[in-house]
Amino acid sequence: MDGFDGKRAYEQVAKQVSFGPRPAGSAALGQLQNYMETELKSYGCAVETDSFSADTPAGRLPMKNIVVKIPGEKPGIILLGTHYDTKRLENFVGADDGGSSTGVMLEIARVLCGQKQARKYAVWIAFFDGEEAVNKEWVDPDNRYGSREMAARLAVNGDLSKVRAFLLADIVGGRTPHFKRDGESTGWLKDMVWGVAERLGYGNVFVKEKTNFGGDDHYSFTARHVPSADIMDLDPADVPYWHTPEDTMDKISAKSLAIVGHTILESVKELQQK
Ligand SMILES: [Zn+2]
Repeated sequence: MDGFDGKRAYEQVAKQVSFGPRPAGSAALGQLQNYMETELKSYGCAVETDSFSADTPAGRLPMKNIVVKIPGEKPGIILLGTHYDTKRLENFVGADDGGSSTGVMLEIARVLCGQKQARKYAVWIAFFDGEEAVNKEWVDPDNRYGSREMAARLAVNGDLSKVRAFLLADIVGGRTPHFKRDGESTGWLKDMVWGVAERLGYGNVFVKEKTNFGGDDHYSFTARHVPSADIMDLDPADVPYWHTPEDTMDKISAKSLAIVGHTILESVKELQQK
């Protein structure tokens, strides 16, 4: 598993859920932000934050992206991402949607920030605020507030052209995960990640079937021509609890989190060779 501990990732999901519903701009999300920053620093990660305000259907909301930056020796960035806000719905705690991928990325940060050997390219891990639409329906521009902010900022400061690949995870913690190949993700990067998963014995999880999600944080980067791939399970057969109050801890599997974490860590290794 390359040092990735599925049980630790699971505990990170439980910790997030313990803060309750965490929509953008909420006090609970502020508590989670403080927790994540403290936790990431305890791993030895260099942590940068970008606080901004976003105009939403609910008015202007304070939001914050949190980015771990692990340096590399050559110019080039391998970007990983997750959103940590939860959908604005009553009694919605987002164990899988918001919690699972953030648990995976916190655990990946623990592993990578703990490795002392030099690496070729930098690895950045972005924790996005405001992925969820404030309104019930997902209609641009009411979604992806955090990833849009980060992509725009990187375009302005010149770092965007250094991003060699962006791997996004979202809704990855269910008990019967099937990650289909998303039509908006970049071909060679999908081939690479799904090939890595197959080699690791996860071909029954990273399946060959195709799908179209209709939107996620990678759109903020594909729109700017950054090679991107989204690992997500939105199949109603697997996640009937999606965007309902039933998205709770009992839906989460430590094994699924480990499969995703392992696949991403191996994919990062492969991207370091390119
Ligand atoms: Zn969602």
